[in-house]
Amino acid sequence: MEIKAIRGMNDILPKEVRTWRFVEETARKIFGLYGFEELRSPVMEKTELFLRGIGDETDVVEKQMYTFTDKGGESLTLRPEATASVLRAVIEHGLLGEDPVRKVYSIGPMFRYERPQKGRYRQFHQINAERLGEDSPFSDAETLKLAYDLAASLGLEGVAMEVNSLGCEDCRAAFKKTLEGFLEGRAGSLCEDCSRRMRKNPLRVLDCKVPSCKEAVAGAPVLEEFLCDDCREHYRQVLSGLDAFGVPYGKNPLLVRGLDYYTRTTFEITAQGLGSQNAIAGGGRYDNLIGTLGGPETPGIGFAFGMERLVMLIGAVPAQERGCFVVAQGDEDVRRYAMGLLAELRAGGVPAEGAFDKSFKAQMRRAGRSGYPACAIIGGDEVKEGAVTVKDMRTSSQDRVPRADALARVQSVLSAQGEEA
Ligand code: AMP
Repeated sequence: MEIKAIRGMNDILPKEVRTWRFVEETARKIFGLYGFEELRSPVMEKTELFLRGIGDETDVVEKQMYTFTDKGGESLTLRPEATASVLRAVIEHGLLGEDPVRKVYSIGPMFRYERPQKGRYRQFHQINAERLGEDSPFSDAETLKLAYDLAASLGLEGVAMEVNSLGCEDCRAAFKKTLEGFLEGRAGSLCEDCSRRMRKNPLRVLDCKVPSCKEAVAGAPVLEEFLCDDCREHYRQVLSGLDAFGVPYGKNPLLVRGLDYYTRTTFEITAQGLGSQNAIAGGGRYDNLIGTLGGPETPGIGFAFGMERLVMLIGAVPAQERGCFVVAQGDEDVRRYAMGLLAELRAGGVPAEGAFDKSFKAQMRRAGRSGYPACAIIGGDEVKEGAVTVKDMRTSSQDRVPRADALARVQSVLSAQGEEA
C-alpha cells in the first residue's frame, strides 16, 4: 500500500520552492541591512527547555508539543517555536559575553500538534528574529520596522500592524487582579480553557477566539491604564519611533499573544487574503526570558513570520530558467562531442542538460519542455566541421558557429533573453 505523508506535514514541491526561496532570499537581504546574523539551532531540544521557556500554561505547551522519550529515556521535544532554542544556543555558547548586543535570525521548521487546516499545519516554517541586549524603545521600534519592511518587500497586500504593551511584571500584577475580578463575574460564559486559565493566566482570556469569550471580555479593563510610569513612557516612545520610521500601526489593547514570556511591547502583523488564519507574524519583548533560561539577565525582543502563509499570499514566482539543452543526433563520436560541450557550458556557468539516449525528435521535445532559452544541436555535419548549431528557442532562429565560439554564442542568446525579461 502507498505510504502517505503525516497529516499536517507538507511536501514542498519544486514549483513551490521558487516562492520559498524568494521569501528566504528577501528575508536574508533585509536582515543583512539591519546587521542581523544567522544562527541555526537543532529542531529538537530537551522538553524542559520549552516548559521553562514558553510557560506551562500556554496552549503550545499544554496541548501542542511533539514530545517523546528517546531510547536513553530522555524526554525530548520537536521545537514548537524558535526563540527558546535560539536563546539556549546564545547562552550555551556565551555569545552575550563576547558582545552584549546580539541580533540573530533563523529560518526553519517548527512542530505543533494542532488541528490542520488552511494556513495551520503540524510542521510549518518560521523566519525568526531575536534582538538581545537592548531595552531602549528605539530597539523595539526598529525591530517592528524590520518586520514591516519584510512584509512590504514581499509585496503583500493589506499589511496591517497592531501593537500593544503588556507592561512589566509589576504593572501586570495589578492588572491581572482587576481582570480576574472582572472575569469572575462572567465565568459562566467562558470556554472550558478560559475557565481554567482565568486564575493562573487571565490575560490569555483576552485574546481567546471563542465567540462567547470574545463577548465576555468586551468592556474588560484595559492594560494600558495600568502601566507604570516607566512602561507607559517606553510604550509612548515605541509608538513615536514607529511614526518616525513611517510604519503604519494600530493600537490593540486586547493583543496578548499566546506565549507567556512577553513583557512590554507585543505586536502582530496581518495581511489580506488568508481568511481566518490571517496573522503572518507576531512577536514582542521578553525582558525576563534569558534570565529564566539560566543566562545573564538580558532584555530582548523578537518576532516570527509564518512562511507557509507568506508563500500562499505570494503565489507562483515565474521560473527563470537560464540554460541550454544540448541535442545530439548520431553515433558515439557525436555523443562524445556533445558531452564535451555539456561540460564546457557548465564550467562556464551555464546550466546544461542533454538526453542523448532519445531519438532526435524526443530530444527536441525535451529541449522545448526544459524552458531553457538556448538549444545546441550537434549532428555528424557539426562534428565534421568542428561546429555547433545554436538555436534561440524564443525566436526559433539558429546559426552554425565554430565549436570554439559555442559557449559565447549560448551566453549571448541567454543574455538577450535576460534583457527582455
Ligand atoms: P507564533 O509563534 O504562534 O507567535 O506564530 C507566529 C507566526 O507563525 C503566526 O503569525 C503564523 O503566521 C505562523 N504560525 C503559527 N502556527 C502555525 C501553524 N500551525 N501553521 C502555520 N503557520 C503557523
